Amino acid sequence: MPLGGPGLPQVRRLLTEVPGPRSRALAARRRAAVSAAVGSSMPFYAAAAAGGVVVDVDGNSFIDLGSGIAVTSVGASAPRVVEAVTEQVSQFTHTCFMVTPYDAYVAVAEALNEITPGDFEKRTALFTSGAEAVENAVKIARAHTGRTGVVVFDHAYHGRTNLTMAMTAKNMPYKEGFGPFATDVHRAPLSYPFRDGVDLEGNPIDGPAAAARAIAVIEKQVGASNVACVVVEPVQGEGGFIVPAEGFLPALLEWTRAHGIVFVADEVQSGFARTGAMFACEHEGIVPDLVTTAKGIAGGLPLSGVTGRAEIMDAPVVGGLGGTYGGNPVACAAALAALATVREEGLLERATALGALMTTRLQALARRDPRVGDVRGRGAMMAVELVEPGTHVPDAALAARVAREATQRGVMVLTCGTYGNVLRFLPALAMPEPLLAEAFDVLDEVFAGTGATA
Ligand code: PMP
Repeated sequence: MPLGGPGLPQVRRLLTEVPGPRSRALAARRRAAVSAAVGSSMPFYAAAAAGGVVVDVDGNSFIDLGSGIAVTSVGASAPRVVEAVTEQVSQFTHTCFMVTPYDAYVAVAEALNEITPGDFEKRTALFTSGAEAVENAVKIARAHTGRTGVVVFDHAYHGRTNLTMAMTAKNMPYKEGFGPFATDVHRAPLSYPFRDGVDLEGNPIDGPAAAARAIAVIEKQVGASNVACVVVEPVQGEGGFIVPAEGFLPALLEWTRAHGIVFVADEVQSGFARTGAMFACEHEGIVPDLVTTAKGIAGGLPLSGVTGRAEIMDAPVVGGLGGTYGGNPVACAAALAALATVREEGLLERATALGALMTTRLQALARRDPRVGDVRGRGAMMAVELVEPGTHVPDAALAARVAREATQRGVMVLTCGTYGNVLRFLPALAMPEPLLAEAFDVLDEVFAGTGATA
């Protein structure tokens, strides 16, 4: 009998210390078998997961506020996904779309063309990982424009392949020792409301001002006519769940339009219902030229895509895009089932409701505890930035301690941020609300017990 699926009790339950004996035994085997360079946030090993919980090999049940880094939005064993995958596996696991095409790939492309912003003619190409989608978006933009420059932002995360390492901002641990990196990738300042402050004249750096600052850097250091694409996360993920100030993205988009630059929204983390909209761009009415998707799109199976304007997507030479596993039929079946789940279970509304609950709880915490410098996010993509009280000095040690302590009490919390001082909250959209409330009770306890002297 499988443990996962709808039968898995949605409870927080600790039967052993964390990690328990079975997890410790697996950790010993892992040390002898797995590269030490591959890290894990949690000290326990998974046996089953569904809805809002992960159950470990010792029978402990954790409330999961990470969803495998924003992947299992519909749950980690969502019934429609399990059924569709099982059905597809029994038909065929793989033919390679570049050899023998199949229906599910086309259906996913049709779905992505429909749900991404913009009512113009679109095309989609499917890949396997988020990084691969971003790389291919750059390839497509270069083929379309005949230019090579790529503009990315401070705090950006776009992946770990060679090109996307160059695009990712943070050195440690993503880039350390791995250079040289791809050339013609240029970094511009982002809008980061908590840290932007005022300009030299004392005016607040709002969204349009932050866009003007970024555009000035690009024009001076790269030249608009050399830029193939601007790649931006509409809500920055790994960099700290930074929501750019209102007006930043529209002003940037307008500037790219004026200069024939392809605007790529990297929605790998923020997309697919996570923020209470199908895509985070929609919160500001942004219509990108290309959108990259991955993570939540296929209920846990590896699938990614680039979707956008037909004339841009069709620019590379025939055969220029692809990959052995890109748009694997099992992953495509899962994606169609995940999309059906989002629609039929009203998960956009659920994301908004979970976001409202988290915002209320986090704002209350911030009022009580001066170490919470900022509460931000959209929908079920929320975060707090932790600082030394009364300052903007990042407190990464506190973030690590809170995450560790929460794990010990049966709640999984992930950290992020350039300074490592952000706690991010990404529950499955299938998370029962009472369970989410319980997780925030635990976090309150942890914060109350994690004083300056703790
Ligand atoms: N872009 C963004 C915005 C991401 O958050 C991530 C993953 N954290 C990636 C790209 C890379 O995705 P993957 O790990 O699937 O390659």
